[in-house]
Amino acid sequence: MAGSATSYAEFYRRSIEQPQEFWAEQARLIDWQTPPRQVCDDSRPPFTRWFVGGTTNLCHNAVDRHLKDRASQTALICVSTETDTEKTYTFAELHAEVQRTAAMLQALGVRRGDRVLIYMPMIPEAAFAMLACARIGAIHSVVFGGFASVSLASRIEDAQPKVIVSADGGSRAGKVIPYKPLLDEAVRLSSHKPQAVLLADRGLAPMDRVPGRDHDWAPMREKHLHAQVPCAWLDSTEISYTIYTSGTTGRPKGVQRDTGGYAVALAASMKHIFEGSAGETYFSTSDIGWVVGHSYIVYGPLIAGMATIMYEGLPIRPDAGIWWSLVEKYKVTVMFSAPTAVRVLKKQDPAFLKKYDLSSLRGLFLAGEPLDEPTARWIADGLGVPIVDNYWQTESGWPMITLANGVEPQRAKFGSPGVPMYGYKIKILHESTGEELTKPNEKGVVVIEGPTPPGFMQTVWRDDERFVNTYWKSIPGKQVYSTFDWGIRDEDGYYYILGRTDDVINVAGHRLGTREIEESISSHPGVAEVAVVGVADPMKGQVAMAFAVPKDSAVVGDANAAMKLEGDVMKLVDQQLGAVARPARVRFVTLLPKTRSGKLLRRAIQAVCEGRDAGDLTTIEDPAALEQIKALVKQ
Ligand code: AMP
Repeated sequence: MAGSATSYAEFYRRSIEQPQEFWAEQARLIDWQTPPRQVCDDSRPPFTRWFVGGTTNLCHNAVDRHLKDRASQTALICVSTETDTEKTYTFAELHAEVQRTAAMLQALGVRRGDRVLIYMPMIPEAAFAMLACARIGAIHSVVFGGFASVSLASRIEDAQPKVIVSADGGSRAGKVIPYKPLLDEAVRLSSHKPQAVLLADRGLAPMDRVPGRDHDWAPMREKHLHAQVPCAWLDSTEISYTIYTSGTTGRPKGVQRDTGGYAVALAASMKHIFEGSAGETYFSTSDIGWVVGHSYIVYGPLIAGMATIMYEGLPIRPDAGIWWSLVEKYKVTVMFSAPTAVRVLKKQDPAFLKKYDLSSLRGLFLAGEPLDEPTARWIADGLGVPIVDNYWQTESGWPMITLANGVEPQRAKFGSPGVPMYGYKIKILHESTGEELTKPNEKGVVVIEGPTPPGFMQTVWRDDERFVNTYWKSIPGKQVYSTFDWGIRDEDGYYYILGRTDDVINVAGHRLGTREIEESISSHPGVAEVAVVGVADPMKGQVAMAFAVPKDSAVVGDANAAMKLEGDVMKLVDQQLGAVARPARVRFVTLLPKTRSGKLLRRAIQAVCEGRDAGDLTTIEDPAALEQIKALVKQ
């Protein structure tokens, strides 16, 4: 409890030793239609069910329950520096818009349990659509607007949405990105076809409508202007949404989340970690296409009765003061961003940090990638508020390691996100023996012992087997959840995250699978084979580097031909996956470093690119392959 004498150590201990009591208490932070019968059902590990027998609704908790006390308080603030628009909605207005959207989705045939895929820029309609789905018990699956047709198609194929909600386009740095052609191409590529497409027209890009399938938002909204759509009372364990994330295969995984556990986890985190209170303003600079956007642009702040800012645009446009001007204008108390964004701001004039009144701000939370000390110090000094690093994953839905300053203010240590959050039994295990590493600073794999806390993924959408095999069977002899991150714990119990154990890379806080990028590049007719690795980058944390074997080996020695093919390959990745997945460079070689059994030596390639020792190369088939890469990197 904030301000009470509870120590965090005691709070944490109770969450682990008396989880039923602990979480029953947290469950009181939200409204239930029917109170839960059982707090935690862990009878079929690793599948954990929270608040069994309880019925509730995310939209009710985010919107309706605030109408009594704060109907005229601002709930949603949408700022776009791309279109120069700023729109705010009170809780009452948000309630009306969500009901209209819910009625529109129902008119298009959406029922409880149906999937609705949302492929949208950061506009108010995106939040309305998410909340409307939650309201009627439809499962939303938001796909990041920066993804292109092939990425989108694989998600449509897997989610099988009845309806897709989209828009004419997004905009980045003033450049319009038409969404509709990407969407149409994705639907063409997918064997599953949606029954209807609902389109918000921002007047940014022309749209071809498919007669009978495509519907315009504005006229439909008019038809449902006075709609009243009650919240469907869902079982706590009913699915609220799926969100796709990259893994080691080319096929993205649908991370599936429940309803009640997620609502409780978010409400508890708003109190104990973020310390956000009703009536205040929360500003997360993320995107609704990422898990941070789900948890801390839309649901978390609204559940806490806060106003939330949705921002479309860059942090440095029109100038590097834009975010701070919003903090001043809307009296933001809690802000959430990523280290990459801070590194971008750090290159700008520091005077922007002093130009605005930031006295409302109490803390800045940063997540998504390792937070380096110079970046943390720069922003801490500039803002004069605590900077709180927090470590989590799409799978967890809320921070796993950070400091719960709302329980007890704790000392931050540079380079460490902090200590395990309540409910998380985090351990460091030896990667191959599975033995627990208990001595300080021993490097191993960061794992979670079940049962996982509320809010954590339930399973992989329609693939329990993949959930178990991917996450719970990677450590020999132990059924524990692997984060696929390396880590150490110091003598004070603080954790340090040291990068991924798998082929997932993290570019500017965005998680990308190297296999997906490799598949895209290999689909170019001029490419025979390719390896993609993540290479350390001072701005973005990591960037993707591709090494490809061209079908025409003459390309390797011909600078002009190589440049042309590199450009073509990049264009192809842009079209298929989106610019977010475009490698920084595509270099051409005559062969790739592989083991004698044909396995790509990605780690060795990465080491060479980062100027490190390539490690044990006894299994390499032809050392000349690595020499070629070494020579290219030196150029
Ligand atoms: P995502 O699922 O896209 O949120 O990516 C999760 C991955 O990002 C984690 O497995 C880590 O590798 C990395 N990550 C997230 N937060 C942090 C952090 N605070 N410090 C270090 N790495 C982080």
